[in-house]
Amino acid sequence: MIRTIKELRCWSRRQHNAQKRIGLVPTMGALHEGHLSLVQAANQCCEATLVSIFVNPAQFGVHEDFHQYPRPLENDLRLLQTAGSPEVFVPEITEMYPAGFDASVHIGGVTQPFEGVFRPTHFDGVTTVVLKLFLASEADLAFFGQKDFQQVCVIRKMVMDLNIPVEIVVCPTVREPDGLAMSSRNRYLTETQRSQTVVLSQSLTLAEKMIIDEKIRDVETIRQKIRSKIETAPDIKIDYIAIAHPKTLYELTTIDSEVVILIAAKIGTTRLIDNILISVVDN
Ligand code: AMP
Repeated sequence: MIRTIKELRCWSRRQHNAQKRIGLVPTMGALHEGHLSLVQAANQCCEATLVSIFVNPAQFGVHEDFHQYPRPLENDLRLLQTAGSPEVFVPEITEMYPAGFDASVHIGGVTQPFEGVFRPTHFDGVTTVVLKLFLASEADLAFFGQKDFQQVCVIRKMVMDLNIPVEIVVCPTVREPDGLAMSSRNRYLTETQRSQTVVLSQSLTLAEKMIIDEKIRDVETIRQKIRSKIETAPDIKIDYIAIAHPKTLYELTTIDSEVVILIAAKIGTTRLIDNILISVVDN
């Protein structure tokens, strides 16, 4: 396990000297099968896999769950042993943000809607830490989950705008048997809450059916259907239902080629997000 950026740089240099490509999987720990699918993808594409585990304070809002966020490090390390024993980088907060740290990476445009409205400082925290991880690890490829769709758009934009020499690989969302997207935050849910959360993924597959099978193209009709489905769960409060272009994240009024539907909702104090990417072929 690597604890410092200096050690990480040495490790990366050794991998590159041995002609190995480095695949980085940035995480906040509390690992589940979604994270492990990224590790497996990295193992397949790269000769050296690096998983970072860092609960990044900069990406939490002041009233969010930074202090409660689960940190089961021993269990995480055990899980990683079942996924090919990648190298693991676990820095202290002071290693990433030493006293006097005063930098922030801001990406415009795609950071603004949806999550940007509800979590206005979130993406600056994400891009700052991810850029630091890219630079310290000299990763050749970096693996992210589609689960955090907007985050992927933001990272891709950062990589493009700042000419960062890393290839971004996006892996599909891993779900529980009932469809709920796996998330470290699912462990906050009570049994009653957990049973209600199934409507989130169900509302997205319902929307997919409307678009693909019923050929409905009007965004408001689809949004209303998603809303009604989610509202069958008494304790879920919707933050947003966005129907947008997958590259620009501009909201659509009618659906033509590609569309992403993003939802965010709260149940009790737990905030959950999900999305579905749909390709439409009209002829
Ligand atoms: P986190 O630890 O929540 O910051 O997530 C670390 C990485 O794992 C991010 O790229 C997430 O998008 C990805 N991830 C989280 N949950 C899932 C999931 N259910 N399926 C696939 N990837 C996921």
